[in-house]
Amino acid sequence: MKNRLIVQKFGGTSVGSVDRIRAVAEQVIKTKEQGNQVVVVVSAMSGETNRLQGLAYEVDSVPSSRELDVILSAGEQVTIALLAMTLDKLGYKATSLTGWQAGIVTDDTHNQATIQSVDNEKFDQLLNDDQIVIVAGFQGVNQAGAITTLGRGGSDTSAVTLAGLLGANECQIFTDVDGVYSCDPRVVESALKLEHVDFDDMQTMAKYGAKVLHEPCVEFAAKHNLNIRVLSSFSPKQGTLVTRLQSKKNVCGLALQRDLSRLIVNLDKAGQIAMQCQLLGIAVHSQKAEYLIVNNSDVSKLLQISSEDVSIVEPISALTIVGAELEEVHLDVLPQLLAKDIKVLDSFRCDRVVKLLLLPEHLNRAANFIHAQYIEQSHSVAKDKKALIL
Ligand code: ASP
Ligand code: MG
Repeated sequence: MKNRLIVQKFGGTSVGSVDRIRAVAEQVIKTKEQGNQVVVVVSAMSGETNRLQGLAYEVDSVPSSRELDVILSAGEQVTIALLAMTLDKLGYKATSLTGWQAGIVTDDTHNQATIQSVDNEKFDQLLNDDQIVIVAGFQGVNQAGAITTLGRGGSDTSAVTLAGLLGANECQIFTDVDGVYSCDPRVVESALKLEHVDFDDMQTMAKYGAKVLHEPCVEFAAKHNLNIRVLSSFSPKQGTLVTRLQSKKNVCGLALQRDLSRLIVNLDKAGQIAMQCQLLGIAVHSQKAEYLIVNNSDVSKLLQISSEDVSIVEPISALTIVGAELEEVHLDVLPQLLAKDIKVLDSFRCDRVVKLLLLPEHLNRAANFIHAQYIEQSHSVAKDKKALIL
């Protein structure tokens, strides 16, 4: 009988030191010893990608996107080697592969590439030789052989895409939290751990800022009906299953975005600037006739092309309520926030979201209030939080 194939991904904090890498090696060995074939995808050690990005921006506030990929992909190469050495020392056969060695071919979109294919034969050979295969997350090469990266947080997408392309039985994402929460627990202490979340809710949460999983990985998993289990590499708790099974609650969770800027522009210029953004690969989060919202990291690039049309650049935060049938919630929440002296600069409702634009200093208070009002209250029926199933 063919062995089960498990793809395990470990994020930056899980591989943040040589000691942590040893703990990862032990987890991988445990899975291998249960009779599974194991492919491991790792991120750079925590803080490393930010450090490399900082160096690049010190040289140029708008670095070449090709060269940015060359430098950003370096962090993962360190981790794969350290993990392979650790496994080797513990007596297990392991081989590390960078993106190109693994035959991970992507499209040409530097900094935001999409994986197209992988060298299945290479994996088959190594796995049949009883090796543990360790792959650098977040990177690939385009057809011309240039290094590409998949966007910040992209190792999740590497893991899920590899799991799909290799026909794995399960994809496990090990991180520093023990699952998906109804809001960032560092902001809302009473946030609830979700036992399972459906693909739609998870994809929406990720799109609007929940950091636990990279959005394209959820999209890929949904398309291929591949279950993802989000687990903590620090605690043996059960984690969250991201699956096709529909969540039953109206409001699933809150997603927060802090690293945004609002650019107030000359009236009627927003549409034109948004089109330029599209050409430059700059994501526009919201757009009205008189303003645009983009990531902080894109502001310099944008000002280079249209500074004469931009009158003010100000930091802004977004809080997105994710769920189904949110019409009433939208109508209800605005006066309630106003009564709490929380100014909503603008709000939108579409599909499965209500998005509120807030002053950065109001974000945490708004999140706690909305969480208590629309999530905790509806969950309090299920008295025992542990027995909670969405
Ligand atoms: N190292 C990359 C980043 O920090 C990719 C990842 O960790 O998923 O964004
Ligand atoms: Mg991540």
